[in-house]
Amino acid sequence: MQTRHIGDITINRVLEIEEPFISPFEIFDDATPEFIDPHRHWLEPKALDPQTGKMILPVQSYLLRTRRHTILIDTCIGCRKSYDGVPEWKDRRDDAWLRNLTATGVALRDIDYVFCTHMHVDHCGWNTQLQDGRWVPTFPNARYIFARDEYAFFETQNNAVFRENVLPVMEAGQAVLVDSDYQLDDNIWLTPTPGHTAGHVAVNIGSQGHTAIMIGDMLHTPLQLIYPDWTPNFDFDLPLAIASRRKFLDTCCDTNTLVLTAHLPSPSVGHVVFHPKREFDFNYL
Ligand SMILES: [Zn+2]
Repeated sequence: MQTRHIGDITINRVLEIEEPFISPFEIFDDATPEFIDPHRHWLEPKALDPQTGKMILPVQSYLLRTRRHTILIDTCIGCRKSYDGVPEWKDRRDDAWLRNLTATGVALRDIDYVFCTHMHVDHCGWNTQLQDGRWVPTFPNARYIFARDEYAFFETQNNAVFRENVLPVMEAGQAVLVDSDYQLDDNIWLTPTPGHTAGHVAVNIGSQGHTAIMIGDMLHTPLQLIYPDWTPNFDFDLPLAIASRRKFLDTCCDTNTLVLTAHLPSPSVGHVVFHPKREFDFNYL
């Protein structure tokens, strides 16, 4: 397992799955073979599956250990959930994510903060577990930090993801609703990055002059580094999602900020750099 360091903070990826997920033609309205074929040679096989033509997406969390806190950013899909938008994600029984988390050396009771970039099925599933027929928080000692705007939107949706992954945390008294620029301490703070969802946030990490950022779903595929204006057709507000992605890429490009992605292929972590022909590129570390 690879451990990364940002100053005196350690960072581990906690992977749930990494597999071919969906064709770019299904989610990007602007995608055509003319735009994608010239890039197959570097997209395949890690980011684009040559057999199925589907984009390969990991679903993963990041575990941070600071001097004061043990923090999870996002909690993947989870088990036994009733969400049925993606058939393979419904009623899963595979607890690989839990095993991968404990392999980092932390116990569930050790997590004292859970941050949530947004309330989609693949980002908040392990917030809760089924116990005696009830959804209860997986991390008994954690405060779960939810952006107020995100919570308010999904409260009105009241979908299965909200009812199973978010509401039980609120009812247990472990949720904290915050502004989208909330700062926990000198090490951890949020940036509002709305568009993919109403209250999407990025989580910034800083220590001893070094910085990192977990960007949630501002990027789903390296294709969006070449075509930053391609945005999934299931985004909440497409122009706003494009604006947030552009702002992040422009701000981060050619800096030392380590970018922790939710869905770029393994190792998923690296630096955004300028590319003379492709607009942006990603140097994986
Ligand atoms: Zn996602």
